[in-house]
Amino acid sequence: MPVCFTFDIEEHHRIEAAADCKCSQETQAEYARRMEVSTRWLLETLAEFKARSTFFIVGQIATTHPKLVRDIAEAGHEVACHSWDHQRVHRLSQDQFRLDVRKAKSELEHACGRPVVGYRAPTFSITRETAWAIDVLAEAGMRYDSSVFPVHHDRYGIPAAPRVPFLATGTERSLLEFPPVTYSLLGKNLSAAGGGYFRLYPPAMIRAAVRQVLRDPLGLPVLYFHPWEFDPDQPRLPLGRTSRFRTYVGMNRTKARLRDLLGRYNSRPMIEMVETWQAKSLPSFNLSD
Ligand SMILES: [Zn+2]
Repeated sequence: MPVCFTFDIEEHHRIEAAADCKCSQETQAEYARRMEVSTRWLLETLAEFKARSTFFIVGQIATTHPKLVRDIAEAGHEVACHSWDHQRVHRLSQDQFRLDVRKAKSELEHACGRPVVGYRAPTFSITRETAWAIDVLAEAGMRYDSSVFPVHHDRYGIPAAPRVPFLATGTERSLLEFPPVTYSLLGKNLSAAGGGYFRLYPPAMIRAAVRQVLRDPLGLPVLYFHPWEFDPDQPRLPLGRTSRFRTYVGMNRTKARLRDLLGRYNSRPMIEMVETWQAKSLPSFNLSD
């Protein structure tokens, strides 16, 4: 059974926790350099395991690192869209979001030479308040989204959304949605797909969540990672205590953990799942209800 390993490609200073940090040009350049080194390590590691995956890439990176974007596509991975400059959807009007998606999509397509039809919002910021984003993505020619996290969290999530792929309806249009893996326990969905959970919890937790999702005939486990999570020596951002913990916990063990997961599961790009899942009778979920 396939598992979608996905990578959100962004420089470290773009993370939501650092939204209020003043980051010098030199530091930003250093994070950009390290983002490329880490992403190339990911490409080598995926090749070693004959794994192919989806890279959700910030659109601006297509203009600063076009060769990297092309190399990702040429290695057999899917290039997908992670917004233009990593602003949460909540910060944009509907018109601004439309321009953001179109610009990112077209620059990524220009860099990789292929159609870009998958989307993930920064910080999983498609929620009930931004349900209209689904309409915009469908209009822009996206074939799927992977931004709705069916959990309770202080920054994102729709806890009532399905844990398996579903048809997400915005205000008018619908789009295939691939939610990240969760672990259902006592009627609550716990995050288990990546980020701090991947670095902090025992690895058995992710494996249990993947098993649970695979038991559902509609289930498709989706995991997510960032290049900066595989760079334990990077300069630290001046974050508050909670964010510092969430951001940097367990960074020394991520490379070994990713390799362990890649050895267990057959990673495939999301775009290759679209037709198979569209042929199933998927649940519908209206984000604007
Ligand atoms: Zn991101």
